[in-house]
Amino acid sequence: MKISEVLIKKYLDIKRDLPWRNTRDPYLIWLSEVILQQTRVNQGLPYFNAFSEAYPDVRQLAEAEEDEVLRLWQGLGYYSRARNMHATAKQIVEKFPDHFPVTYDELIRLKGIGPYTAAAVSSFAANEDRAVVDGNVIRVISRFAGITEPVNSTPVRREIERIAAAWLQPGTAALHNQALMELGALICKPQNPLCHECPLQSACAAFRDGLTDRIPLKTKAAPKKERYLHYYLGAEGIQYIRKRGAGDIWQGLYEFPLCETGGPDPEPLPSFAGRETAPQLLQQAKHTLSHQLLHIRFWQTELQAGHLQDYEAVADSELDRYGFPIVLRKFSDVFIAGKGLL
Ligand code: SF4
Repeated sequence: MKISEVLIKKYLDIKRDLPWRNTRDPYLIWLSEVILQQTRVNQGLPYFNAFSEAYPDVRQLAEAEEDEVLRLWQGLGYYSRARNMHATAKQIVEKFPDHFPVTYDELIRLKGIGPYTAAAVSSFAANEDRAVVDGNVIRVISRFAGITEPVNSTPVRREIERIAAAWLQPGTAALHNQALMELGALICKPQNPLCHECPLQSACAAFRDGLTDRIPLKTKAAPKKERYLHYYLGAEGIQYIRKRGAGDIWQGLYEFPLCETGGPDPEPLPSFAGRETAPQLLQQAKHTLSHQLLHIRFWQTELQAGHLQDYEAVADSELDRYGFPIVLRKFSDVFIAGKGLL
């Protein structure tokens, strides 16, 4: 039996029933792929349901307000993905007014769609012979082939792509790609792979050589940049918020009056904070992003509207209408919506 046949046979036994597997609609498949990047299936599923219900086709997504898209995305992180998804939807409607592009060559020409997504959509929606290479596939192939060099180097990545393409049997891409990805997700897991359940075990180099905990190897990521953010809230049922601009984290999302310091200053006193009483510390939190570690403190103080020209005043009860980064939303739910302290 060829590897592809073995994989597909196993897949038909173990596959999870997921909504994007029950459709060949390229828009829904693309939507699921965008949502599932860097996201676990269980976490992504409610977002897929919410987006596919709110925007059943690409035109409706393209015509949505960006604020609304970001609000629906709230909690999923990596907000640039939501903005890129929205921009790509607009581009698709403009370039393909009559249909959602489904061939690899059409998809790869779109800004915001890379080789992975183009291969996934074209193979799942149209069974085009394209091998998909995501994190799960990289793990299975690097273990199977016993690749002990870092998988994030370009030559190794090319070698994995070559093997992935060689495993693919013409005419089976939709099933084959799902099968390989599902094996990586459910059996060849990052930690403690279930090799005793794996149909590739008899030919797997990592299993044979006891290297499953060392492969795939990655070069070490650079240390995260640490930032110190102080947010200030008022006590009078009105908050000041502004939309974050381009070129930094959380672009397009809203935030409260901010004072960022270069280090862990105990108590900065920005111009917009009242001088009569010292700001009161409500909560502190650490929040990890892909390249940054944020130390966030939330303060309550008398806010000076005259020093907050860049911000708009919003009643506490209206805050739900705005998309906030999840760490600010959680804080706002406890301390403002729940009137925890205010
Ligand atoms: S035998 Fe183990 S390490 Fe090898 S592919 Fe299967 S699950 Fe992964």
